[in-house]
Amino acid sequence: MPFVWYHNQILQFYRAIGLLVVYSFLLKLLLARSISVIKLGHILLCAGVFLVWSSVFFYGQTVNIITLQFIFIMVLGSFFLISRRFGVFYSVLAIFPIAIFILTKGRIEVFNQTEGALVSPAYEIIVILNFITIIVIHDLFNNAFTKNVEEKINLNIQFENALVKANEAANSKTDFLSTMSHELRTPLNSVIGMTDLLLSNPINEEQAETLKALKFSSTSLHSLINDILDFNKIGSDKLMLEAVKVNLNRLIKDICSGLNFQAKEKGIQLNFKVDERLHPIYVITDPTRLSQIIYNLVGNAIKFTSKGSVQINLEVINHSEEKIKVKFSVIDTGLGIKEEDQERIFEVFKQASLSTTRNYGGTGLGLAIVKKLVEMLGSKIQLTSEIGIGSDFYFEVSFDISNDLQVINEDDINEVFDLEQLKVLVAEDNAMNRLLLKKVFSKWNSELVFVENGLEAIEKASTDDFDVILMDLHMPLVDGYEATKSIRELQDVKKANVHIIALTASVSNNMEEKIIQSGMNGFMYKPFNANDMYATLKGLIKVNPNKSSKDS
Ligand code: ADP
Repeated sequence: MPFVWYHNQILQFYRAIGLLVVYSFLLKLLLARSISVIKLGHILLCAGVFLVWSSVFFYGQTVNIITLQFIFIMVLGSFFLISRRFGVFYSVLAIFPIAIFILTKGRIEVFNQTEGALVSPAYEIIVILNFITIIVIHDLFNNAFTKNVEEKINLNIQFENALVKANEAANSKTDFLSTMSHELRTPLNSVIGMTDLLLSNPINEEQAETLKALKFSSTSLHSLINDILDFNKIGSDKLMLEAVKVNLNRLIKDICSGLNFQAKEKGIQLNFKVDERLHPIYVITDPTRLSQIIYNLVGNAIKFTSKGSVQINLEVINHSEEKIKVKFSVIDTGLGIKEEDQERIFEVFKQASLSTTRNYGGTGLGLAIVKKLVEMLGSKIQLTSEIGIGSDFYFEVSFDISNDLQVINEDDINEVFDLEQLKVLVAEDNAMNRLLLKKVFSKWNSELVFVENGLEAIEKASTDDFDVILMDLHMPLVDGYEATKSIRELQDVKKANVHIIALTASVSNNMEEKIIQSGMNGFMYKPFNANDMYATLKGLIKVNPNKSSKDS
């Protein structure tokens, strides 16, 4: 103002006063918080655009260094005051007249002084001030940017540390569960096994009743431990699905024969209907997990039904040469579930009502496991149910069909094998477990040879021929893994290739992998289920039919 006043540039003087008034007014509005920075930004930028356009086309009809700096400041201001989108918008508006000017007038005379333009040193002061503003804006931006990056790096470090700690905690939880399960399962194995043996020949009615109660409690405890372990495994994504050949008709028959007793005890019918198209084929899936799903659903259906029936249906939805889609349904005529509870019961530890635990027991883990397992099979569990009428749990799974043709003989399913001819070596250090195995196998007319540690197992396997070795994993002197490795290295090919099944009570994460790597053919968890053991050994005889007493 003083310079233009001194040089008698009246128009510039009024312009300066006008700008001062406008800026003071806007500053006042801003300080009184009656306007937001963004609104103020828009007002200033609109005014800026107006100034640039008027100065280039009307007032100065020129582009000099002040115009260029002014545009720079507008570009920076629009990006940092408002947003990226408006930054682009105002920048284009501000730069547009310059582009037109260059196209029509040729070139920019950066230091030209047209008539009526600012006089020295006002011109130089404004140029210097504008430069300082541009530097300050860049400094502010750079500062904020580096601070942001530093903060991000620090947060990442904190995040990584937290992740390491969380993983450590999760691992120690899994290790703890694995150790606990081993410690719990080993004595439980004996309790359940011995109860079964006593139950097969009770002294009197009263003892039979007591034994039944004992059996009920111990198997409940067993399934609770299994459920918790399974849930832990699924939750930490440690569960891998197997892919083996399965005949669904046979699988359902086996499951039903396992649950028939329970249904009969409650006086209800357990029926199953498997689509005929499934009878002759094998599909590729994980039989253990599929059975677990159906066991859980049918177990619940029997538990919550007091009269009527439980029906398992397997229906083919579509069928091609390589794939088959099957709908599994478990339908009961039991209690039914209220509509508002139908989603909740699939959550962990949730039951339909508080009285459920009181009347029927259970933990509310079963359906949570079923839900996750069905998801792992690529499907979703669904439910329709009506109070007092019954429930229908169903899901659809698409399976690959095994092209490895194998004739299925329906009679095979119920065929009974005697295990008399099977020579079995048992490596087990726990005396109770040895006694239990002895008693169970005596029912199948099979005599066992026992050793108590891995070293003895290697010696015995190198001198005698066995069909199967049941190998405990944790044993003194030499453990089950090492013993298996040594047996696999024996000179005699037949002895080296003996079928070895691990018997284990622990469920650590990489145990299944370690078992296979050490050269064992499979594994069974303790407490082992006598039916599963029988089925596995029966399978071995089938692979090697001259071992069957029927054939020999
Ligand atoms: P649990 O059976 O151990 O209680 P689940 O997760 O298997 O746990 O089931 C959760 C709840 O869902 C049960 O407590 C019961 O209230 C309800 N439920 C499950 N299946 C049925 C069924 N077939 N009929 C009626 N209610 C059922």
